[in-house]
Amino acid sequence: MNPYYDPAKPHHTREGFQNNYTASVNQGFGALMRWQFEKRQQGLPKPPASPIPQQAPDLKAVQAYAPAHAAAFAALGTAGPRPAITWIGHATMLVQAGGLNVLTDPVFSQRASPVQFIGPSRAQPPGIALADLPVIDVVVVSHNHYDHLDTDSVQAIAARSAAAGRPTLFLVPLGVKSWFASRGITHVVEMDWWDSHVYRGVEFNFTPVQHWSARSFGDRSQTLWGGYAVFAPDLHWYFSGDTGYSKDFADTRARFANRQAASQGGGFDLALIAVGAYEPRWFMSGQHLNPAEAVQIHQDLGAKRSVGVHWGTFELTDEPLDQPPQDLAAARAAKGLKDDDFSVMAVGETRFLPARPAP
Ligand SMILES: [Zn+2]
Repeated sequence: MNPYYDPAKPHHTREGFQNNYTASVNQGFGALMRWQFEKRQQGLPKPPASPIPQQAPDLKAVQAYAPAHAAAFAALGTAGPRPAITWIGHATMLVQAGGLNVLTDPVFSQRASPVQFIGPSRAQPPGIALADLPVIDVVVVSHNHYDHLDTDSVQAIAARSAAAGRPTLFLVPLGVKSWFASRGITHVVEMDWWDSHVYRGVEFNFTPVQHWSARSFGDRSQTLWGGYAVFAPDLHWYFSGDTGYSKDFADTRARFANRQAASQGGGFDLALIAVGAYEPRWFMSGQHLNPAEAVQIHQDLGAKRSVGVHWGTFELTDEPLDQPPQDLAAARAAKGLKDDDFSVMAVGETRFLPARPAP
């Protein structure tokens, strides 16, 4: 039984939630077994040909982004610290914009798994250790899969921010609040698709994507999944979470078109789009993008620039860990895009972005 069930909302079902444009991304148990069998038989994934790019973090720059100062600049309507993003690994990005330190889907643990002795193990340490991060103002959680919602990371972030007297706000999909409550974390806002929450002048919108949820057997799609469209004065940014390709991204662009006219500074300044965990296509295509589809989403959203995430860290599927950037380069070339239009980062890299022009 879905306690949130609203018959007026097509993505609500009595048991949980469903996608807008496909009946199910679920291939069923037989298909899962076939994939696992073929994967073992073919010895997949092959090891990466070259190591995943990594660099020492620019801790000074990351820690120098003082939210109070940035907010003061924003209130004056003058240029403050430049917006910056730092890739921690997988789907975890530190986004510093609008006077807030925001983390997407924070996973700092060694394994993306219910237990730390088995399950996908990370290929490199987090780009910045949790202890070296500034206090996190907001965490956005896209869905409850283990490589996106990690118990130890969430608890450590909450504990650090509470100790600093600045408790982190966790934005989570419908149904996920109780998971936080059972861990004593209550500064949590649960969001349905198209819900919006304003925090210290920055607007967070939860947006539809095509995926599913589960943390154990028997809870499939009982909690919601989605992406985030975030509007800070100096950066309009988007985070896809996990998704297959659908019309949801064109819908998202249309939904916010009245905020993103050329005279208002244009479309999303940055989109963080998942580009990994896509082979074999017969099993994965409903739920995970390949880079060609990610490039299509970059265009559907009308983003000025995109960065590929959800690759290079956890071996989840059949393609080698270093395959996504190669396929992305080919997809970019096929569409005549420049390298900077849709790029990837090194783990630990910080990239500064131009501040959005004031409307
Ligand atoms: Zn997922």
